[in-house]
Amino acid sequence: MTVISNHMPTAELQALDAAHHLHPFTNGGELNTKGARIITRAKGVTLTDSEGNEILDGMAGLWCVNVGYGRKEMAEVAARQMLELPYYNTFFQTSHVPAIALSERLAKLSPHDLNHVFYAGSGSEANDTNIRMVRTYWAEKGHPEKKTIIARKNGYHGSTVGSGSLGGMTGMHAQGGMPIPDIHHIDQPNWYAEGGDTDPNEFGLQRARALEEAILELGEDKVAAFIGEPIQGAGGVIIPPETYWPEIQRICEQYNILLIADEVITGFGRTGNWFGCETFDIKPHIMTIAKGLSSGYAPIGGSLVCDEVAEVMNSCEFNHGYTYSGHPVACAVALENLRLLDEEGIVEKVGKETAPYLKKKWESLNEHPLVGETQLCGLMGSMALTPHKDSRAAFAAEAGTAGLICREHCFANNLVMRHVGDRMVISPPLVITNAEIDTLVERAWKALDQAHAQLKDEGLLKAAS
Ligand SMILES: *Cc1c(COP(=O)(O)O)cnc(C)c1O
Repeated sequence: MTVISNHMPTAELQALDAAHHLHPFTNGGELNTKGARIITRAKGVTLTDSEGNEILDGMAGLWCVNVGYGRKEMAEVAARQMLELPYYNTFFQTSHVPAIALSERLAKLSPHDLNHVFYAGSGSEANDTNIRMVRTYWAEKGHPEKKTIIARKNGYHGSTVGSGSLGGMTGMHAQGGMPIPDIHHIDQPNWYAEGGDTDPNEFGLQRARALEEAILELGEDKVAAFIGEPIQGAGGVIIPPETYWPEIQRICEQYNILLIADEVITGFGRTGNWFGCETFDIKPHIMTIAKGLSSGYAPIGGSLVCDEVAEVMNSCEFNHGYTYSGHPVACAVALENLRLLDEEGIVEKVGKETAPYLKKKWESLNEHPLVGETQLCGLMGSMALTPHKDSRAAFAAEAGTAGLICREHCFANNLVMRHVGDRMVISPPLVITNAEIDTLVERAWKALDQAHAQLKDEGLLKAAS
């Protein structure tokens, strides 16, 4: 038997990875020629790879490690729960303390009357639950034809057939028979890329009113729900103009359709409040949660459901659930994560100190010739790369070319920053210190300089006409 461990040479680990591991959202052929970067351990905001490089994780893994890496308390809670009750289901008239305790905690923590939780193993699963839940809700109320869900282009809600259909990623829709029927996509509130000369707040209203137009076109009696992320995450950290959400709220109320806020990224302190719904004053019927719920230490997601929807769902049998709905170890880990975020004042500190500090530093990147705009809310931020600052022009090269070049330079400078097309995005662990923020921004600036030089050398600093 081969013992595969951290002590093996990187090249051997890469070869085994290439031979047997299929990676998500990756061109496997390209990766396998190059070899994956192997991460061996992490602490706080810092990853260590198999070559001993120390990398600042500006993405908190995949937007999820809110409490930072290496928290012993989380490991201890998981070990204790595994010894006491590693697994039991919540299907057939049974429950257990971790699920009960986490549900109570989430009900208290969340805004408004989101007092009920349906558990899933991930954000994708939770959004699949939401598709079936909102349709079942209306069917139970005598409106089975009220089943279309309106979502946004360039929104992200997960990667299963259902959640990927809610999402508006064209590259995903092109593979595997998506979207499923009765999902309708409207334009996104992305002023930088699509707003032209329109005033941002006017543009926010226009894009919200696209929901009203869609409802009128489809018929109010056919529309079950609208789903949106308070801030689009995977779409490039697009912070909508401030006029957008109040108008969406008004339209959902006026036409009697359910509002689903997908808070998989924006939840649990990311925007400086516990939930993005507080930051944007949104009152949803259902909230999707995952990622920061457990800071990624255990896979868990869920749907937080308001009293009214829960009452209807409780009046019928919902033929739906996952083996790992309310998994005791994941629930215990999530509960401990919420305790740390709360008792250590991590969320409060983001709002009061860390986010204002990062904002000042992040906005200084605006002075770089390659940067067209920066946006930041709490600890999620983005910057748009452009060959021509004043006109916000896109590059003539294929979208994502400049972004990828910039990301590679970030990596080479020991900074994880992701690119979405030609936007660079960050979402660091919430425990990042001011000194680490300084490092992040220094490395970002250096990577921008190097990307700028490379783009110039390769003749890629040209605007699309
Ligand atoms: C990541 C994400 C999801 C999907 O969550 P998974 O745990 O990857 O299934 C859903 N919605 C949003 C907004 C996300 O960012």
